[in-house]
Amino acid sequence: MTDFEGLRAVVTGGASGIGRATAELLAARGAQVTVLDLAPDTVAKPLLARRADVTDDTSVRTALAAAAGEMGGLDILVNNAGIGAQGTVEDNDDAEWHRVLDVNVLGMVRTARAALPHLRASRHAAIVNTCSIAATAGLPGRALYSATKGAVLSLTLAMAADHVGEGIRVNCVNPGTVDTPWIGRLLDAADDPAAERAALVARQPTGRLVRADEVAAAIAYLASPAAGATTGTALAVDGGMQGL
Ligand code: NAD
Repeated sequence: MTDFEGLRAVVTGGASGIGRATAELLAARGAQVTVLDLAPDTVAKPLLARRADVTDDTSVRTALAAAAGEMGGLDILVNNAGIGAQGTVEDNDDAEWHRVLDVNVLGMVRTARAALPHLRASRHAAIVNTCSIAATAGLPGRALYSATKGAVLSLTLAMAADHVGEGIRVNCVNPGTVDTPWIGRLLDAADDPAAERAALVARQPTGRLVRADEVAAAIAYLASPAAGATTGTALAVDGGMQGL
């Protein structure tokens, strides 16, 4: 399929997991893709890559402008960079809340702010945010992480309303538990990684974890011209976990 021919995309957090699968899929379908990540050196051609820290407004602005300049414009922003956090409200202090909110929420605000002037010049402008079922599922032991993703969901809906008149669509995906390096790190840190993995799998009605390429396919759909009538929506890719 070459439905992204002529389109130019930026994928934040595209050096790993869901972001990497998305960047590779968009490129395979004809897009020019620039990954913005803390670790751009691990990104291989045909993907372009630049270092950007989404917690640093200057870093985001500089990298986004350079990416759009190099690609000759910007049509698609995949706002995907994010970090995890565990615990109830009693487990995380203010500093930890600020740290995770800074990446997961403000990080998306910064990239969107830097991208919007470029997206206004596009005839197929789309933003896709990587949210999570944590936004609405009420997961135990994930208060901070869930709150950040709840904010991403609200941000998606508000931005969709703000920019629909400019021809810019804004949607998000809500993955369940996806088999990425992130989940690998989580399991490595567990007392009994095999038991922990089995517990994660047991939560999935499909009997397996979601694959990164399955989330990438959903992101690609929302970013594609085929989704031209879709804005302000959340697409669950959760193995039936939430049943939405
Ligand atoms: P991952 O850790 O495999 O990849 C995350 C990428 O983001 C890494 O390349 C990392 O370098 C980059 N990144 C982190 N902080 C950054 C910063 N400050 N600036 C720029 N880049 C930064 O994780 P993943 O599992 O692919 O998760 C990607 C997104 O998917 C996140 O937003 C996460 O919340 C969301 N998500 C993941 C799952 C899951 O089960 N894996 C489920 C739901 C949602």
